[in-house]
Amino acid sequence: MQLNKVSVDDINVKGKKVLVRVDFNVPLKDGVITNDNRITAALPTIKKLIADGGRVILCSHLGKPKNGPEEKFSLAPVAVRLAELLGQDVVFANDDEVVGENAKKAVAEMKDGDVVLLQNTRFRKEETKNLEPFSGELASLAEVFVMDAFGSAHRAHCSTAGVTDHIKDTAVGYLMQKEINYLGNAVETPVRPFVAILGGAKVADKLNVISNLLEKCDTLIIGGGMAYTFLKAQGKEVGKSLVDDTKLDYCKEMMKKADMLGKQLLLPVDTTIAASFPDPIDGPIEVSNVDVDAIPADMEGLDIGTKTQELFAEAVKNAKTVVWNGPMGVFENPTLAAGTIAVAKALAETDATTIIGGGDSAAAVIQLGFADKMSHISTGGGASLEYLEGKTLPGIAVIADK
Ligand code: ATP
Repeated sequence: MQLNKVSVDDINVKGKKVLVRVDFNVPLKDGVITNDNRITAALPTIKKLIADGGRVILCSHLGKPKNGPEEKFSLAPVAVRLAELLGQDVVFANDDEVVGENAKKAVAEMKDGDVVLLQNTRFRKEETKNLEPFSGELASLAEVFVMDAFGSAHRAHCSTAGVTDHIKDTAVGYLMQKEINYLGNAVETPVRPFVAILGGAKVADKLNVISNLLEKCDTLIIGGGMAYTFLKAQGKEVGKSLVDDTKLDYCKEMMKKADMLGKQLLLPVDTTIAASFPDPIDGPIEVSNVDVDAIPADMEGLDIGTKTQELFAEAVKNAKTVVWNGPMGVFENPTLAAGTIAVAKALAETDATTIIGGGDSAAAVIQLGFADKMSHISTGGGASLEYLEGKTLPGIAVIADK
């Protein structure tokens, strides 16, 4: 399946001002960028537009400023890093109102192939509400709009959706194309067997993902904190493990759905338990391994057990497509990372197309050193989850069809 949207390959930007929504929401510590993956991921589109003689005006949000402009959420450090990566000047238009005098002046002075970066779009209160006049102001800077912020495509904001009320010449960038082609192919036309692996903390966060993936995949593996609600729904004692009692019926329904569809639903058969959740999260902890039928009432399951690691790895072995979202345990703690490492290793070893659905699982895969062994690591946690739910993402929907 190929994305049926106009892309940067289909448009002529020579001499035109192009507003590009990128995802520069990078982690910062004391004003220093600790991981520039998101900037690197945006480079192919930016370079293409520069090479084509476009005047490239970049915009992004960074963090969650609550009450307008805040120095710690300034995109200034990103402009510096981007200039280094591009090997050319990047003019940072530092306006608290984002589209202010600096931005207008910088854009007016642009020549073909120049790059301007606007200030954090969330410095404007309208941004997350998708309200005017900000959408119109952003749009007034350019003639063409390119959407390349996959990580923000599940939000209808001024900079991801509202601007297209004013600019009709629209396209997706290479990152969007790549993300959607990987995730879309995996879910809509997977090479089978297709194994989906879900973990993470709560069942409630992934209700629709579970249901949708059950329909699409051959095997659904459930680990992480969310597995215990399923185990309790099977009538097992899960002790102090993370459980959502309001979702027991839902879990029963999903197990029934798997049966009816003839799908394999794999749950943990054993678990790593401790007396309580580690505090601090990466602090020392005493653990033991028990079968899921033998979890003591005063203990808490914090990772999949050793037999489960083998079971899950075996299920992945002959897969042709694997999608993974959510860690298998409290991977932030070295003692409780074994399950997540085992699954990452199994994915690294299969010749299946392996897709990591962003968020914590992406962080875990990168942190554990398996990044280059995966076919695709999504840059968008929330966006990839909504995509896996089968939802239409607003930031994709607003871009013109081919
Ligand atoms: P994101 O929402 O950022 O995309 P994700 O979907 O990968 O991330 P989350 O649902 O946020 O994952 O859950 C990740 C968290 O779940 C981790 O912080 C991890 O410590 C926690 N977790 C995993 N297993 C357990 C468990 N058995 N008990 C409690 N917490 C757990």
